[in-house]
Amino acid sequence: MSAELLKLSAASAAAAIRAGELDGDELFEFYRARAAADELNAFTWVSEDAPAAPPAGAPLAGLPLAVKDLFCTAGVPSQAGSKILEDYRPPYTATVVARLTDAGARLLGKTNQDEFAMGSSNENSAYGPVLNPWDRRRVPGGSSGGSAAAVAAGLAPWALGTDTGGSIRQPAAFSGIVGLKPTYGACSRYGMIAFASSLDQAGPLTRDVTDAALLFRHMAGQDANDSTSLAFPEEVRLPSRVDLTGVRLGVPEELTGAGGGIEAGVRASFDEALERARGLGASVHACSLPHAPHALSAYYIIAPAEASANLARYDGVRYGLRVAGDADLATMYSRTRAQGFGAEVKRRIMLGTYALSSGYYDAYYATAQRVRTRIAEDFRAVFTEVDFIVTPTAPTTAFELGAKSSDPLAMYMNDFCTVPMSLAGIPAISIPCGLSDGLPVGLQLAGPAFSENALLDAAYAIEQALGFDPSPARATGGRAS
Ligand code: GLN
Repeated sequence: MSAELLKLSAASAAAAIRAGELDGDELFEFYRARAAADELNAFTWVSEDAPAAPPAGAPLAGLPLAVKDLFCTAGVPSQAGSKILEDYRPPYTATVVARLTDAGARLLGKTNQDEFAMGSSNENSAYGPVLNPWDRRRVPGGSSGGSAAAVAAGLAPWALGTDTGGSIRQPAAFSGIVGLKPTYGACSRYGMIAFASSLDQAGPLTRDVTDAALLFRHMAGQDANDSTSLAFPEEVRLPSRVDLTGVRLGVPEELTGAGGGIEAGVRASFDEALERARGLGASVHACSLPHAPHALSAYYIIAPAEASANLARYDGVRYGLRVAGDADLATMYSRTRAQGFGAEVKRRIMLGTYALSSGYYDAYYATAQRVRTRIAEDFRAVFTEVDFIVTPTAPTTAFELGAKSSDPLAMYMNDFCTVPMSLAGIPAISIPCGLSDGLPVGLQLAGPAFSENALLDAAYAIEQALGFDPSPARATGGRAS
């Protein structure tokens, strides 16, 4: 029975529950037990019992949902991977989580992440690193590493993550699952603990493209509590396309050429996926995003600048940790922040504060914003020639724990192919496209703003043709390998 339950995608489990063929409470308990026995450190909190089942016929049918620790969940620890928010239990729930539970999902647990979503390996969590279920000596990617590992290992049927510069797509790639970063504004940011507000987006991490569409359908929509959110212009459809006739795929030289440091095994899987796409009727074109090589530099100014402002609120007064003793106020602030934040968060606060300081603002922040505009213009221009951009999601497969911890620039290079889309605010999806030395490789597809339906359709067609087998990770799920 349990092997069969594990094989069911979220969409098919929901359908089976609604058809009366599967007991929703039994399924919840199945995953709850698996999550509670987590050996990957994917969860920071697991529900002790099942929340009440939703009314019969609810679209998400009481399915368990793993939620990144970055989302506020009322009364439940929401720590964003940081010591400064240790055991912080917010009085309210993030809009996307509330929408999903309104649609019938049930909170299974909160997942581990890099502190305040700053990182690409989940090693920046105050709650310890997450292990990759494909190889426990390796990282699952980050910052949504706990969500990715939980889904890949079958500790949850699906999960929520957030993506500021790649944090859904890169861990999805490293863990052999699907991750969608929606158009900026498609999902409300209300109740998401802020990192870089002009970039942060919530999105699904799932086993397949259909599940990503289903979860996204119940997340998207305008929210009066987030003035940057927008109504999705059409109904989010479940994908059904099986061919790519007439679809033009663009391969940008700037992201796939020598500058990106793409590993040979990643390139081989990527080329094979493009061959499959051609076999489905797509045409593949070389194209250019002239400013994309500067995306990483611009991102690592803009994101820390916004973070330095957003993280000013953690002062020991309003939330979480306070290190006071007999100190005066200023000393209490600095002691709290010195002890509450980890090294990477401090690095970003210092970089961001510097980039925004008078005298340097124009040289750094304003320049980065101009580069950002150019990057968005590049995408607009290229989408008059091709329908989607395709790249490897990350230049490498999952690396070993500790391999890049002492070299921030090497760590930042992971985001080379994902950051341009974040700066442009456009949707992008990562799907598994093969293995390199036994480790999953991700294929990224990106499209114009609000093209999620078409993007999911194209990804689905390629997914069907590739027939990727995710079972090795699930086989080692909750047990020692
Ligand atoms: N790895 C990138 C960073 O460290 C992106 C993180 C994210 O998308 N939240 O900023």
